[in-house]
Amino acid sequence: MNSAPVPFVDLTWQHQPLEDEIKEAIAKVIAGGDFVLGKALKDFENAFAKACGVDHGVGVANGTSAIALGLQAYGIGYGDEVIVPDNTFIATVIGVLQTGARPILVDCDQATALIDLKAAEKAITSKTKAILPVHLYGQMVSPSALLHLARTYNLLVFEDAAQAHLANREGYRAGSMGGAAAFSFYPSKNLGAFGNGGMLVTGEEAIAQRVSALRNYGAPSKYFHTELGTNSRLDTIQAAILEVKLPHLESWNQQRYQIAQYYDYLLAPFADKGIYPITNESGSGHVYHLYVIRLDRSCPIDRQQLQSELNNSGIQTGIHYPIPCHLQPAYNFLGYEKGDFPQAEKLCQEILSLPMYPGLKEEQVNFVIDHLSRIIG
Ligand SMILES: *Cc1c(COP(=O)(O)O)cnc(C)c1O
Repeated sequence: MNSAPVPFVDLTWQHQPLEDEIKEAIAKVIAGGDFVLGKALKDFENAFAKACGVDHGVGVANGTSAIALGLQAYGIGYGDEVIVPDNTFIATVIGVLQTGARPILVDCDQATALIDLKAAEKAITSKTKAILPVHLYGQMVSPSALLHLARTYNLLVFEDAAQAHLANREGYRAGSMGGAAAFSFYPSKNLGAFGNGGMLVTGEEAIAQRVSALRNYGAPSKYFHTELGTNSRLDTIQAAILEVKLPHLESWNQQRYQIAQYYDYLLAPFADKGIYPITNESGSGHVYHLYVIRLDRSCPIDRQQLQSELNNSGIQTGIHYPIPCHLQPAYNFLGYEKGDFPQAEKLCQEILSLPMYPGLKEEQVNFVIDHLSRIIG
């Protein structure tokens, strides 16, 4: 258990009231012995797909795998290009590379930190097969703008919804706007397992069937291999745990939103000191996986100093993410250079993620802002 006055994340609050129910669900899997591709997996796949407003869900080992296998199911691979925001967690890029396709990075919008669709349009070539929006921090990329672009150029829309479980915008739920979407159930995500997990959701039955085969050695039926598959299944025990947690997700997201609104309110006076939150353009559809502020050039204090002083008072913060994908050493081979994506590079220098999780108390938010105020002076 995290004993800091304000930890960055605390999962005990959500798990404690569900402990008996979760133990029962685990006991049921043990009694059934169907640890791999068992009944609770099928049940959770159906329940989660339904929550996203689509017909099919296929549980996989993690979110990265959901991206890779999902794109592979659409036939994307060597020689193809997939447009990806530079400003994302590296797993988005890894998922694309695992298919053999080339990730084409593009810059982000300076206010929302989401993919810049004008930059995306400029990056389209005859090899472009898909655009992969990332609903970063829990805010969806505008479906109307994205779908318009995708239709104009006949591109697949494949969502990275790893940070956006049940987010919505313009009447679309995360996971339902394009051909398919990838979710992660890493423990600290809005819906988290007791270990790793992921899911591919799609409205297309053929894609769901193909991913079902791909995750299971490429075998649609036992010992009959029609695909170059892999071993990437969501464990039955993890699915059973997630099934118990799913009915609470909406209220947890609502809590995140209320906490974000309270932060927004308390932070408003800091705007003239160069501190303000990342812009929310989607109202209550934002599910605030992270609450991110930025410190621009007019801010009197250095980010690192602020972070360490907050930490000294027991307030944990994070940076999501400190280095943009195109400047990560392992991805030199993609050929990008410093200066290629100025907005993303600037954001990486300015952002700070404040504690955010359902169960975070009003007093704790006050504590964070009081200390911030004192440090800024
Ligand atoms: C967490 C995350 C992933 C990867 O999910 P894993 O389950 O850790 O593989 C992909 N994209 C984004 C934006 C994420 O936040």
